[in-house]
Amino acid sequence: MTIRLGSPLARFSAFAVLAIVLPTAILAVLGYLSLRQWKTSSELLFRQQAREMASMAAEKIEMVLVRTEDEILVSLQSLVASPDFAPAALERLLAATPLIQRLYLFDRRGAPLFPSSWMGEDAGVSVGLLAEISQGFWERGGRRHLVIRDQVILAAVLKARDGAPLLAAFSRNPEILRGEILEKTLGKQEGPAILSIIDHQDRLIYSREPLERADRIVTVTFGEALPLWRVTLYQPRGMSPQEAVHRQITLLSITFFLLLVVIMAGLFATYRLVRRETEMARLKADFVANVSHDLKTPLSLIRMFSETLEMDRVPAEAKRREYYAVIARESDRLSRLIDNVLDFSRIEGGRRKYDIAPTTVEPMIRETLDSFGYVLAQQGFKVDVSIAPDLPEVPMDADAVSQALANLLDNAIKYSGSHKVLRVEAKSRDGHLALSVVDEGIGVPRDEQQKIFEKFYRVGRSETQGRRGSGMGLALVRHVAEAHGGRVTVESQPGSGSCFTLWLPLAG
Ligand code: ADP
Repeated sequence: MTIRLGSPLARFSAFAVLAIVLPTAILAVLGYLSLRQWKTSSELLFRQQAREMASMAAEKIEMVLVRTEDEILVSLQSLVASPDFAPAALERLLAATPLIQRLYLFDRRGAPLFPSSWMGEDAGVSVGLLAEISQGFWERGGRRHLVIRDQVILAAVLKARDGAPLLAAFSRNPEILRGEILEKTLGKQEGPAILSIIDHQDRLIYSREPLERADRIVTVTFGEALPLWRVTLYQPRGMSPQEAVHRQITLLSITFFLLLVVIMAGLFATYRLVRRETEMARLKADFVANVSHDLKTPLSLIRMFSETLEMDRVPAEAKRREYYAVIARESDRLSRLIDNVLDFSRIEGGRRKYDIAPTTVEPMIRETLDSFGYVLAQQGFKVDVSIAPDLPEVPMDADAVSQALANLLDNAIKYSGSHKVLRVEAKSRDGHLALSVVDEGIGVPRDEQQKIFEKFYRVGRSETQGRRGSGMGLALVRHVAEAHGGRVTVESQPGSGSCFTLWLPLAG
């Protein structure tokens, strides 16, 4: 289909592009860019908050641990400085302080004062410990966390009653550390995020909730009190702000897409409507011009021949008869045309009524054909009529069917080229009366064969080769056929002819 510049369709298309498609496209691009921006900044913010939360948890755990260890060191100091200090007092302290796993006490020369009996790794740990303690540390005093054989040992220089330095060191019981410090500090945590503790080999030490359906967001290290462990923050799957943003974006995109589809569908529907209306307006304008022309031709002929006869200018009787016949033929044409127009307007207004009664088919066909007798003879048509002898009476509105047949005959005459052959057939088939009009004329192109039954539709000018018409005839034929519960069909080969068949049910 071509769109002419300046036509209503072209104006509509330009309007659609400028007023709807362009702003929608701009909106889509801006929306996409701002959604991306939003996603990036919310991700950043979320990571930053997660890191702060994990760091705060790490600081809190370490603070509680250091405070507990300080209290233990204070108790140790007061024990070793007491006048009746004996290793049994350390045993009692050990029993009262479950956080301590193994406790060691050495004198300035590195000789072990406690425990009295070594077990397991004790020897190895004490060798490692003494190797780590420098001269300066003995003199300066204070406390240090050391990693010996994958465990953290707190070492501190204490003062004996006589002022001699003693080295105290202890390792932590991991069960107590988990239950007393981690559980108490992290167990109260609220919100969807899960804080957990992992060791230097990524093994889980503690987590308030199972982590199978959660994603690791950030990991932060502790200070020197817990050098082997790290705090990690997990987010249950589907709960992270990124996913919430993602869901929002998907939802917005779907809404936008649906909106776009609705707009496009609306545009398409409006476009089709405008196209139909434009086409209808053109067809109606053509229709008025064609009908006026079709009315004028027979009228001028009638006038010319009647005036000639009136002036008595035709002496020969045969000629006069011929003129009368022309007047009668043209009057027939005229009344057929007027009937068509009137019927058409009744159909359009939904006022066309059909008076259906059992009718003998042959007389109706012969009468209709007779009204074309003169034209057929004059144009030299070879006419062949074949009516099945055993046809029953068919329920029909005889006038309407005769008018439909007349339209088919009129077309066959109009669209026959130099092959002036016409065949009319009536037979019963598949419970129907099949009434066919066959010609060997110009035929109808295949892709137009259904359209020709639409009102005002005419095959392109070059195909109909300048024959006048209003595009009403076949629309009327179809209406008559359908009003009888039947149909009209066409078989046609461009260049070889057409066969139009009216199918009317035999039983009403
Ligand atoms: P009109 O003949 O007034 O144009 P119709 O509704 O009777 O309108 O026919 C519609 C179109 O179908 C015609 O314009 C013509 O192109 C095509 N047509 C109808 N009958 C024939 C035929 N027997 N042979 C070829 N073309 C036909």
